[in-house]
Amino acid sequence: MDHFLNKDGALHAEDVPVAEIAAAVGTPFYVYSTATLLRHFHLFDEALAGMDHLVCYAMKAASNQAILKTLGDAGAGMDVVSGGEYLRAKAAGILGERIVFSGVGKTRDEIHLALSGGIRQFNVESEPEMEVLNAVALELGKVAPITIRVNPDVDAKTHAKIATGKSENKFGIPISRAIEVYAMAGAMQGLDVMGIDVHIGSQLTDLTPYELAYQKVAELTEELRAQGHNIRRLDLGGGLGIPYERSNEAPPLPSDYGALVKRTLGHLGCEIEIEPGRLIAGNAGLMVSEVIYVKEGEDREFLIIDGAMNDLIRPAMYDAHHDIIPVVEPAPGAEPAKYDIVGPVCESGDTFAKHRTMTPMHAGDLVAFRSAGAYGAVMSSEYNSRPLIPEVLVKGDQFAVIRRRPTFDEMINRDTIPEWL
Ligand SMILES: *Cc1c(COP(=O)(O)O)cnc(C)c1O
Repeated sequence: MDHFLNKDGALHAEDVPVAEIAAAVGTPFYVYSTATLLRHFHLFDEALAGMDHLVCYAMKAASNQAILKTLGDAGAGMDVVSGGEYLRAKAAGILGERIVFSGVGKTRDEIHLALSGGIRQFNVESEPEMEVLNAVALELGKVAPITIRVNPDVDAKTHAKIATGKSENKFGIPISRAIEVYAMAGAMQGLDVMGIDVHIGSQLTDLTPYELAYQKVAELTEELRAQGHNIRRLDLGGGLGIPYERSNEAPPLPSDYGALVKRTLGHLGCEIEIEPGRLIAGNAGLMVSEVIYVKEGEDREFLIIDGAMNDLIRPAMYDAHHDIIPVVEPAPGAEPAKYDIVGPVCESGDTFAKHRTMTPMHAGDLVAFRSAGAYGAVMSSEYNSRPLIPEVLVKGDQFAVIRRRPTFDEMINRDTIPEWL
């Protein structure tokens, strides 16, 4: 459920008409709903009630500081995957002790940054990383809290580009080698081995892969404890999917997921961390765009809009579906039409939808892309010299621009022409 509803024929973000935001900030733009962000966070938090736990929002999904602060104030920790994300979380007021650091390629500098600034734990993904982390910790006279990310070799049955838990993927250490790698870690003076980390992929629409992975984590916990490791924390990753196509998708709910966690891991008495990103932010955001032209093709009509693949790359990158709806409800009885919905970028891949049935659209009409809150703004670029589009946050009847649209000059003046030219 989200808080983007039609009221009196006009799409609203909570209590604000989307058309009013468009008039104020121009199109295209992203808009997020505070109530939806909080609702999704609380669903996870409640799903794990009764277990010692922390929901660490995977901020790579949508990393505007206003979103981070909204969730942080509600009690969320953060999962970061770069030094930039770490600093952004800190800037939004998140304490280091609530930040976990994931990612296969943490550099020495990033490790240094997080270890000196305070961190809840590093999720270590390889032996060479473990050695660097140990060395940096000893240099700083600190002990780095870690979990080791294990790759359980389960098929998450999701899009190949976002599956991470198969042995062919670059993530984690093979679970078959875990005992050996934990023994190495346990012998390092600069590391405190706290637990196990696993993250098998994104946009999972079935709980079975989680069940298989978490059973393996439970077995590994017992084995490692038997070897003398004080395993007291389990980071279970993120990945729960959302319904992108509302008419025919019903992925499992956070409450089902929470029950599964309790059933498979509850008896171990560990502190539980989860790292949801998409489920918190995805349906909490829209991308809003204006129709520039309706163009007659030979056998189809093109809806050419002012948003493009550089603003929302998911359809081009993952063949992703987004529901696209008119911001103003059509007059009753309007005959639906079929459109290919495309952006202005010079690539055929700049196509959001083909043969999409919609109410008849005209130049100047606004459309909203649903489920655009996660992996939307964060993945945008300036391809075709199109400035990054603004982000807006709504709360009740208020809205605020939380990242403004840069001017053309700001974008162009970042280049430097060398003296010899
Ligand atoms: C991307 C990622 C997540 C979040 O995945 P979602 O599908 O957005 O929930 C969590 N943990 C790690 C390590 C990730 O890389």
